[in-house]
Amino acid sequence: MKKVKLHDKEFELLIDAATIDQAIAKVANEINKDLKDTKPLFLSILNGSFMFTSDLLKQITIPGTEICFMRIASYEGTSSTGKIKELIGCNVNLTDRTIVILEDMIDSGRSMTYLIDYLKGKNPKAIKVATMFYKPKALTHPVTVDYCALELENDFVVGRGLDYDGLGRNYPDLYILSTATNE
Ligand code: 5GP
Ligand code: MG
Ligand code: MG
Repeated sequence: MKKVKLHDKEFELLIDAATIDQAIAKVANEINKDLKDTKPLFLSILNGSFMFTSDLLKQITIPGTEICFMRIASYEGTSSTGKIKELIGCNVNLTDRTIVILEDMIDSGRSMTYLIDYLKGKNPKAIKVATMFYKPKALTHPVTVDYCALELENDFVVGRGLDYDGLGRNYPDLYILSTATNE
């Protein structure tokens, strides 16, 4: 079994790169069909989505496709509503656009819920959600996931853009925390 050590923890192979590539190709096909007449704007959420964005967008063939990037921090305001702060903003006008949000992972759904609320304020025509990985059992904030490459159990993973404390984003495979070190 392929293993990697990041900081103090050991991780083992969960899903190999070829399987992830295939799953992303399926998502690209679906999007190419569904959104062919929409001149979609792909909104990549940094940092985790950089690899998914690249892998997916190489296979998008829709005329008028645009890509922009956003880095966000969500924080609680004085009320219970989450707020989004754009650390790197998208400078494309979102009004009347079909936006496809690209995420590395939907876990609790919290970040995506806040992001969708925030984007609705910019009056887009439609908002679609595409994620590389999704942990449906971890979802506490309901999100409609329009496109998902692979569903996972509720475990911590790294690789393919996802990090453990800064490390592991560059791995083409996906790794799971070894149970031996998962105390
Ligand atoms: P949320 O809980 O708001 O849905 O997830 C927020 C973000 O946390 C995800 O987009 C992803 O970047 C990160 N995240 C969630 N689960 C994991 C995981 O298993 N591993 C890593 N490295 N990051 C995760
Ligand atoms: Mg993310
Ligand atoms: Mg992280």
